[in-house]
Amino acid sequence: MVELSKERVLEELKRIAAPDGRGNIVSAGLVSDIIIDGAAVTFALSADPSRIKTMEQLQGVVEKAVRGIPGVTRATVALTAERGPSRGGSASAAPAGARQTGIPGIKHLVAVASGKGGVGKSTTAINLALGLKALGLKVAVLDADVYGPSMPKLFGLTGRPLASDKAGKRMKPMSRFGVEVSSIGFLVDEDTPMIWRGPMVMSALTQLLREVDWSDADIMIIDMPPGTGDAQLTLAQQTPLSGAVIVSTPQDLALIDARKGLAMFRKVSVPVLGIVENMSYFVCSKCGERHDIFGHGGAKAEAERLDVPFLGEVPLDIDVRIRSDSGEPIVATAPESRHAAIYKDIARQVWAAVEGGNLARPAPKISFE
Ligand code: ADP
Repeated sequence: MVELSKERVLEELKRIAAPDGRGNIVSAGLVSDIIIDGAAVTFALSADPSRIKTMEQLQGVVEKAVRGIPGVTRATVALTAERGPSRGGSASAAPAGARQTGIPGIKHLVAVASGKGGVGKSTTAINLALGLKALGLKVAVLDADVYGPSMPKLFGLTGRPLASDKAGKRMKPMSRFGVEVSSIGFLVDEDTPMIWRGPMVMSALTQLLREVDWSDADIMIIDMPPGTGDAQLTLAQQTPLSGAVIVSTPQDLALIDARKGLAMFRKVSVPVLGIVENMSYFVCSKCGERHDIFGHGGAKAEAERLDVPFLGEVPLDIDVRIRSDSGEPIVATAPESRHAAIYKDIARQVWAAVEGGNLARPAPKISFE
């Protein structure tokens, strides 16, 4: 029997055409390193997230071809959302360490980040965006949380973005509440398993940033993937950010994570515009009494200690959650609510920080009953 080798597998793969008609999948750089373990062959195939159906078909063809090689009993081909190194033509990630140039027509890019998931980063991002809109600004939202894109749900948007050119290479953003939005969630089915490695996150983001026909905007809010790993660091480094907002809950653990977030942005010289304390306290709707269930105030003290502006406290509120999770964000659908006032106040501070206070309209007065 012929001994199984990488060369033998490559030889077989070279017979399969690349989806864009440019040579074969090996010469197009779509095949990762091949791992051979006895009779099992495993490797990854780089997929363009916007062409996931084609890639899934290709995945089937490739697996079948590898299984056909004498001596192979198992072939596992994983789709990964990374462009092959030799696939040129459209936008690709900048070389590591290089900060990308700005996005034409978009004045400021502001990241909303958190040290860990579930602290309300996306809820803050959308309501901050809507708060900025309420101040009279032109606003766009980019959902860079590729691990768990939530902007389609939060905006109550379904369907796929329309192509804006004949070749289908560029997309139109979706839009609701007067805010343009793009998300990997519009391109990939929720149940499509995708494996993301650091560089792929960046190339997917680059695509959403540069291959979407955004209208001019004063500010684009970027909902970052949670955490402070390599992917987040690269993103912070390679996106031309005006600044970052860090969302934390009052719990100590979340604050430790928030400190990591702060350190990450400082490392790549992105100004931290401030910290938002989410789920800060709870006001009982029956008795009106305030309950500091998570030990409120930690983020404010921490912000002072770290010399970062404290942007505000957002209470835990069932209305925020219900509206958020049903695609009716509170700032757009209950603009007179106390919560909307808090988000608008945060928005005003963020805009002032990036723009030096040049508001299109004076900020509304905030009053608490
Ligand atoms: P992250 O983006 O950090 O993972 P999300 O914004 O998705 O967090 O929020 C996680 C959950 O908490 C969601 O169900 C959201 O509706 C809810 N949530 C966020 N902020 C609040 C708040 N201030 N009050 C009540 N629920 C909230």
